[in-house]
Amino acid sequence: MRKIACLLALLILVMTGTHAQKTLLHCGQLIDVKNLQTLKEMTIVVQGNKILDVQKGYTAAAAGDQVIDLKNKTVMPGLIDMHVHLESETNPNRYMETFTFNPADYAFQSVVFAERTLMTGFTAVRDLGGSGVNIALRNAINKNLIKGPRVYTAGKSIATTGGHADPTNGYRRDLMGDPGPDAGVVNGPDEAAKAVRQRYKEGSDVIKITASGGVLSVAKSGENPQFTEAEINAIVATAKDYGFKVAAHCHGKEAMRRAVVAGVNSIEHGTYMDEEIRTLMKQRGTYFVPTITAGKSVADSAKKPGYFPDVVTPKALAIGPKIQSTFASAYKAGVKIAFGTDAGVYAHGKNWMEFVYMYEAGMPALETIRSATLSAADLLGDDRIGLIEKDKLADIIAIDGDPVKDIRAMGKVKFVMKNGVVYKQE
Ligand SMILES: [Zn+2]
Repeated sequence: MRKIACLLALLILVMTGTHAQKTLLHCGQLIDVKNLQTLKEMTIVVQGNKILDVQKGYTAAAAGDQVIDLKNKTVMPGLIDMHVHLESETNPNRYMETFTFNPADYAFQSVVFAERTLMTGFTAVRDLGGSGVNIALRNAINKNLIKGPRVYTAGKSIATTGGHADPTNGYRRDLMGDPGPDAGVVNGPDEAAKAVRQRYKEGSDVIKITASGGVLSVAKSGENPQFTEAEINAIVATAKDYGFKVAAHCHGKEAMRRAVVAGVNSIEHGTYMDEEIRTLMKQRGTYFVPTITAGKSVADSAKKPGYFPDVVTPKALAIGPKIQSTFASAYKAGVKIAFGTDAGVYAHGKNWMEFVYMYEAGMPALETIRSATLSAADLLGDDRIGLIEKDKLADIIAIDGDPVKDIRAMGKVKFVMKNGVVYKQE
């Protein structure tokens, strides 16, 4: 017994010994996203996976401590993209992949997309819908088997029959079948509740519904309301029981009205948002996740002959280019904004372009960065990330240049630390 106690004491000594080692990040510029200011010559002290302290000036290292020189960089919290799809990426054969891909095909490519996302400075993402491979992806990243951002995943998103994200849309009749709540397709409040419970069972972190038609589904309308009020109410109520937040994909106004009134936490895309919806969102504190990058990208792809099925092309051309001005009006009106891009609908790794589009639409650079850090963490409901402050998790990135002077500097990520581990240092 005494021998065990001795061994235990030794083990604790060894463990605290290694834990005492610190990493000091000497930051030429540090973006304070809370107060929207840039601080000069700061030191971030990291110990284990947490930020131990933030100090003025360049703190000298004690024996055994490591120093990382970021004196000619701009440092900020790790970025968070609130709308990605890590399982896939746009290409002209994407519709065919539905028939040719096995889950392993999605899994292998998602590993590549996840690493690319992390290396471009996104240390956390919300995956708003895939086949369920995105849950296994999250688990593999959490186990450090592969490199990727922190993933908060919806698993399979929830749709209605024939609606956006019904997985058998556009199939021939005998292949369509009649997918139900298990496959994320619901009709009526009971099935809606069951689909939320199924996501809980599968290990989702968040609920995603496709409240209106969408651009890329093989269906006529990109904006019609696709859930009844009773169905959305059942989803929001059940989600609350299980501690889920709800994200609602919406382009059309009526779908948005129903979703906001039902109490969803965020509206994704929001293309046809008007004054009435903006007012409702402000009253209820609903976040807007714009995805301007995806809108512009699908509109560009639609100009290439044969890129999309015929039924998709006119929707992409009509809806895609509108999102940037929707964002401009929402920002001006004071709607809460969280950064999100719909990566996968365009090439993973270009998420940073959203900063440029938001800036072009009138949002100052530091506010765009706040939307991708502090505000995104707030929408996630995870207060361990999004800030460089004592006791937060050490998710920290650095870029070349100053985004206040040139917003395109957000594309020059040279240093990435996630959970205290350095993944990139150039
Ligand atoms: Zn999406």
